[in-house]
Amino acid sequence: MINESYKQMLTQKSVIRELSEYATARGKEIGYENVYDYSLGNPSVPTTQHYTDTVIRMYREEDPMTIHGYSPSLGIETVREAVAQSLNRRFGMNYEGKHIFMASGAAGALAHAFRAVTKPEDEIIVFAPFFPEYREYIRRTGAKMVVVPPKTDDFQIDFDAFNAALNEKTMAVLINTPNNPSGVAYNTQTIEKLSAMLSQKQQEFGHDIFLISDEPYREIIFEGADAPYPARFYDNTITCYSFSKSLSLPGERIGYVAINPKCTDADILAVMMGQISRGIGHNCPSSTAQLAVMQCLDETSDLSVYETNMNLLYDALTDMGFEVVKPAGTFYIFPKALEKDAVAFCQKAKAYDLILVPADNFGCPGYFRMAYCIDTEKVKRSIPVFKKFVTEEYGK
Ligand code: PLP
Repeated sequence: MINESYKQMLTQKSVIRELSEYATARGKEIGYENVYDYSLGNPSVPTTQHYTDTVIRMYREEDPMTIHGYSPSLGIETVREAVAQSLNRRFGMNYEGKHIFMASGAAGALAHAFRAVTKPEDEIIVFAPFFPEYREYIRRTGAKMVVVPPKTDDFQIDFDAFNAALNEKTMAVLINTPNNPSGVAYNTQTIEKLSAMLSQKQQEFGHDIFLISDEPYREIIFEGADAPYPARFYDNTITCYSFSKSLSLPGERIGYVAINPKCTDADILAVMMGQISRGIGHNCPSSTAQLAVMQCLDETSDLSVYETNMNLLYDALTDMGFEVVKPAGTFYIFPKALEKDAVAFCQKAKAYDLILVPADNFGCPGYFRMAYCIDTEKVKRSIPVFKKFVTEEYGK
């Protein structure tokens, strides 16, 4: 018999992927320029010229055995050291190379972090709204995902609900700031309160509680945002990072885990992750990608288009009467649908070739996500279409 559990998943494919495939198919019928595809979080700006030049130079000049050889299982030592130094410079931390584990994007980083600090039956707390893939990432570790309901007035943390979710089985708490799908970043007050509560609960339960901080959008931060680095506030923090969005390299599958030097067992966690790789096969990320990002650690693609798009959409959506929290970063915005059933709302929008993602799978029914990593010109053209949709369907 083949594996029934994965077979069952065929009937529950990713809603985002399905909508994106629909948008592509519709584009073939009417021209993709006429489809307002807000489905997929795929960066719309190219990587930096410096990254491209670095790769070209490496291919021309470096020893092929080095750039195409297997990476050590924890990552290339010079790269790990450079990542540590970059984080120390930018966030006032004290990482050493031994605290960095190179991984295949944030997905790979999270796979290692979960396994390093939890075992089957432990609980991992997640805050809604959350990236839907968390469900599968966690399920496959055998741990249980416990969801804290959303605080929809600002998408910070509902601390009463969080307090109620914490118990002796809680081994890890997963945060994602700035957040996919809400675009909100946890502010200093939230991170301070979260750290204080976790410290107190560690004492009460007599065991560690690890904060796993998923930060692929860390560099996509808009003007005036208060978006602190969580590991500065809480010792047991394991940060998962990706270059997918900051350097527009999602296809290169490159990121890392950074273990706070003050974390319990900080000196062995990365080594343990090397062993975890053996079990899950997510091992030895591309040597070329590691060596190339090492040269670009303190830079990003030109991310300004995301803020431009966010402002256009935020103004238009509020004008149309949507309830929406202004994003502090990412390339997502997360309005409340104009009817209770966001699936029905998004289905109606499809008739206008507006591709919106209902947030039921993000743990936040009644809301929808727009990924505005698309050309500004298209965002502008989509606004009158959006207005037509809400006027005709909802009398707005
Ligand atoms: N975490 C969040 C919140 C994401 O939005 C994504 C991708 O969109 C990932 C993790 C996975 O990122 P990566 O492509 O780096 O594996």
